[in-house]
Amino acid sequence: MRFGFDIDDTLLNLREHAFRTYNAKLNRQVDIEVFHALTCIPIHEAFGLTADEGREMWNTHRDEIYYSAPPFADAVEVLQELERRGHEVYYVTARKAEYCERTKKALIKAGFPVAEERFYCGMDDLDKVHIIRELELDYYFDDKPKVLETLSGLKAVTYVKDNAYNRHMDMPRIVGWQELLNLLQEDNC
Ligand SMILES: [Mg+2]
Repeated sequence: MRFGFDIDDTLLNLREHAFRTYNAKLNRQVDIEVFHALTCIPIHEAFGLTADEGREMWNTHRDEIYYSAPPFADAVEVLQELERRGHEVYYVTARKAEYCERTKKALIKAGFPVAEERFYCGMDDLDKVHIIRELELDYYFDDKPKVLETLSGLKAVTYVKDNAYNRHMDMPRIVGWQELLNLLQEDNC
């Protein structure tokens, strides 16, 4: 089987890492509960920043956040297990082209199984659907409503990685990565 994964906030806990980084850089102590209550993807409002200030904050610290964001619990182990069982693991991320090489290296360093020819990076959010179709993925996982809304006509079984900003979406949902192995057991693969 072919499994495709978005990276940010699907495999890597990027926004929470950014939230913690903003707290440190701004010398603030905004409670993590404020983060968990956010129902939109941007986090700057939790710090009282305007959209422009938020953009500047993100641009200033993006590299540090991108390459040090930790995986969600069990993400590395479950993807390794997929490979061990003979499945193919694909990555489909809309991080811009200039960040692709270092992103791939950071994934490998974190322990994710990354095959050169199965790493797709640098497309627009709305172009993911074409790549997922061409790759003939059996399963695809993403967190972002804007992406997920484009995937309904695919043969791939699409799962939303649970987050406060996507809970309005009525579709198969994964909260913790161990659930994926349970799902496969049910599907006998
Ligand atoms: Mg994402």
